[in-house]
Amino acid sequence: SEEALQHAQRLESVGQLTGGIAHDFNNLLTIIQGNLQVLEEHPAVEGDAYAQQLVAAAARASRRGAELTGKLLAFSRRQVLRPSRVDVVTMLQSLADMLRRTLDQRVRIEVDAAPDCPPCLADPGQLESALLNIAINARDAMPEGGLISFSCRPCETLPAAALSDLDTDAPPMHAFVAIAISDTGTGMPDAVKERAFEPFFTTKEPGRGTGLGLSTVYGFVKQSHGAILIDSALGAGTTVTLYIPRYQERQAAGSGDESGAGLLPP
Ligand code: ADP
Repeated sequence: SEEALQHAQRLESVGQLTGGIAHDFNNLLTIIQGNLQVLEEHPAVEGDAYAQQLVAAAARASRRGAELTGKLLAFSRRQVLRPSRVDVVTMLQSLADMLRRTLDQRVRIEVDAAPDCPPCLADPGQLESALLNIAINARDAMPEGGLISFSCRPCETLPAAALSDLDTDAPPMHAFVAIAISDTGTGMPDAVKERAFEPFFTTKEPGRGTGLGLSTVYGFVKQSHGAILIDSALGAGTTVTLYIPRYQERQAAGSGDESGAGLLPP
């Protein structure tokens, strides 16, 4: 059902973000615990009962912290991206079919795929999940119904605004596939558009929005060496465009990206 879908989507987002935070937090705890161990055996502490107490209390607290982050990591199953060849047109069509079955009848769904749309290189599950996140936002922006249209086309060079968002200063050597999701909804005021990618930023009622959707999508796109742009006009609608690197045949020969090693950051 739609609710189950939304719930799964929310858990996925929360999982990704908590995974990231828990991972970093765990590293910090390791440093704290290491230092406490040194302190415990330090002559200044060994001869001082009060200092011993303080160090022991800090060590207990950080052990509890480590148990907690362990649970969070297990919940999030912090995912390693496994990029592979994705047939974008097929993915958009099956996503559209699923949404037609699931969403309110007043929401129409269209797919407009360029005949020459090439495959892209991304983790298929994560890409689908990103598109779903964006589509649910589109639906949320159209309480009275409207049109969600997916499109995809080859894209040789990124728009200037998207270029500034890439990890490196040098322009990318590869071309992209541009995947756009448009809606005929409320649109975003500039103040919302500026903050839309921030984790926990939401304009939705508590329980309806977590503010993790677009931040998760943003993280995925960056890890995939792509870019993302939002175009929005108040009262007219919003278009979110993902620029995902095009799949190159020679990558299959083992350039590393195809080895399944993943793109998990350190
Ligand atoms: P959430 O959907 O949980 O609020 P997101 O990070 O996905 O979190 O979105 C953040 C905010 O961006 C939303 O609360 C909404 O205000 C705005 N937004 C996202 N997509 C759209 C859209 N298609 N149309 C209008 N506003 C949007």
